[in-house]
Amino acid sequence: MTDEAIRSPSSLRFPRAVVTGGCGFLGSHICDALIGAGVEVLALDNFSTGTLDNVSHLLDDPRFSLRETDVTCGIDVPEHVDLVLHLASPASPRDYTRLPLETLAAGAAGTHAALRLALRDRARFVLASTSEVYGDPLQHPQSETYWGHVNPVGPRAAYDEAKRYAEALTICFARTYGLNTSIVRIFNTYGPRLQWNDGRVVPNLIGQALLDEPLTLYGDGTQTRSLCYVSDTVRGILALAASRFGGPVNIGSTEEVTVHSLALRIRELVGSHSALRFLPPLPDDPCRRRPDISLARRELRWRPRVSLGSGLRATIAAFRAAGTGSSESQPR
Ligand code: NAD
Ligand code: UDP
Repeated sequence: MTDEAIRSPSSLRFPRAVVTGGCGFLGSHICDALIGAGVEVLALDNFSTGTLDNVSHLLDDPRFSLRETDVTCGIDVPEHVDLVLHLASPASPRDYTRLPLETLAAGAAGTHAALRLALRDRARFVLASTSEVYGDPLQHPQSETYWGHVNPVGPRAAYDEAKRYAEALTICFARTYGLNTSIVRIFNTYGPRLQWNDGRVVPNLIGQALLDEPLTLYGDGTQTRSLCYVSDTVRGILALAASRFGGPVNIGSTEEVTVHSLALRIRELVGSHSALRFLPPLPDDPCRRRPDISLARRELRWRPRVSLGSGLRATIAAFRAAGTGSSESQPR
């Protein structure tokens, strides 16, 4: 399958999909792409970190429906389902630090409920996992064969271990019941619909730059991330869904930058006069992160297409269009 193929309705042969976390940043873009490919979508969300605004443009579309549901309390979907994309979980460090028990429950009970739904209808199942399963990696770049370097009792433990458990649960459903599952390890993704106040580096720095406030950098800013534009990540996730591949597979950009250089880039693109404000380093903050995407290239014929410059320009434009509101892009 070519990556172009996932844009044609015929390659996504799923009449109906359930997207848990469908009102979040990534989930709402996935709903858009599925509906664009002719798939009927049911989004489940408890609005703990997502918003109705993210899907308001879909509410009148007959192919879209939304149910307010906390997936950790079970999923009751009477309709037949062909594809389950499980994204429901707090995802930004600020959110999962604020909601550690909810994050663990989303990875454990939430994943279990989503897998049971897929099993009932023998649907294809995709787990949204994360580069955080590699922790503060000792291998660089990170390939799927790396088992990771995670602190099980550190400040990021709730998220990292929830996702590691969710991966184990997914693979055990595949082995025990022959369920058609897959696991995508998503690396840092950014784009329109990120919340101003969600604490992640791109919305924080763009929000601060637009308000001419100091750009906050944790530590000396030499830590790296490889930032993938949302349309590329969504295309990768849907290519995986449309395939028979089980993964785990990394989806992310290979354009690695330091947080310091990212701040300078955003400041320049915004045309801002913000100063840089260095804050104490965050405990267990991964020092380097870049995916090895050979597996995705080979199995899914996927690669990112949007450069960091273009993606940042598009994101800044979306933030400008949405308005700055109040200054909520504060450090955590
Ligand atoms: P997000 O916070 O914008 O979206 C998560 C959504 O899940 C929100 O709408 C939230 O309300 C919903 N949710 C949380 N707990 C729920 C529950 N118990 N029941 C129902 N809904 C619930 O985050 P995002 O960036 O869109 O991330 C989506 C998924 O992708 C997450 O699973 C995350 O771990 C994964 N991921 C994202 C990134 C990234 O860079 N954006 C990177 C790695 C992995
Ligand atoms: N970061 C920063 N300033 C901010 C927000 C984040 O320096 O205002 C850093 C953070 O310490 C980390 C990187 O940017 O090294 C990415 O953080 P983010 O919260 O976006 O995601 P993470 O990859 O840590 O999950």
